[in-house]
Amino acid sequence: MAKVFCIANQKGGVGKTTTTVNLAAGLAKVGQRVLMIDLDPQGNATMGSGVDKRKLEMTVYDVLLESASIAEAKTHAEKCGYDVLGASRDLAGAEVELVGVERREMRLKQALAQAGQDYDFVLIDCPPSLSMLTLNGLCAANGVIVPMQCEYFALEGLTDLVNTIKQVHANLNKDLAIIGLLRVMFDPRITLQQQVSEQLKAHFGDKVFNSVIPRNVRLAEAPSYGLPGVVFDPAAKGSSAYLEFAEEMVQRIKTM
Ligand code: ADP
Ligand code: MG
Repeated sequence: MAKVFCIANQKGGVGKTTTTVNLAAGLAKVGQRVLMIDLDPQGNATMGSGVDKRKLEMTVYDVLLESASIAEAKTHAEKCGYDVLGASRDLAGAEVELVGVERREMRLKQALAQAGQDYDFVLIDCPPSLSMLTLNGLCAANGVIVPMQCEYFALEGLTDLVNTIKQVHANLNKDLAIIGLLRVMFDPRITLQQQVSEQLKAHFGDKVFNSVIPRNVRLAEAPSYGLPGVVFDPAAKGSSAYLEFAEEMVQRIKTM
């Protein structure tokens, strides 16, 4: 059965999508069977995997509304080496359409009960909010990967996320744990970033991943080619950092 991870942080622009697609591609490169689920109505992870969200016949929306299974709604991202359960605009409506539905936060978990057997890893790219969509992700997951920039307010934002995860753990999903904090867009020349990084390690210990993702323009360019950086330019500094992170994750799940 696949290990399921949410890539979550309620802040926007912190590197969730970049982490999701590059980790997916990195895991695929080392032979893991990966499903990437895009839970953000913006569909950036879908497009960033070379799947055109405007041309999708079925998306994660159909899975949440139980009109399709994951096996029916997924597509294969050829160049990236992993499967994609895509998202498009209509996903924004799912929240409203699920109001009043019983156990609506469990829809994704239920869908994964079947599809999970086909994969080693399922990675879920969450929207920048603690919404019903994110809640579906958290209820379906074994763990949360939190990408964060080492900035002053980063620690403050973490408190809300940690509290949400604690509540979901207590009430809805006993499996859920923070797997780790991933330092992204890191620039070691900036003293503040080093300080925040040290604070993170002091506070969260081995919950901070060893891998550190540097700020690297190749990672930012890759989405416009419909590719994760790891596929677009494997030799770039940012790409090799994500490959290292993929290997760290493979080791991590052995102890889970
Ligand atoms: P989120 O999904 O949390 O909103 P994104 O992954 O979309 O964040 O990243 C926000 C922006 O930062 C994007 O333009 C992305 O290309 C860029 N970016 C992400 N990680 C890096 C990095 N390590 N180096 C340079 N740019 C990055
Ligand atoms: Mg995103």
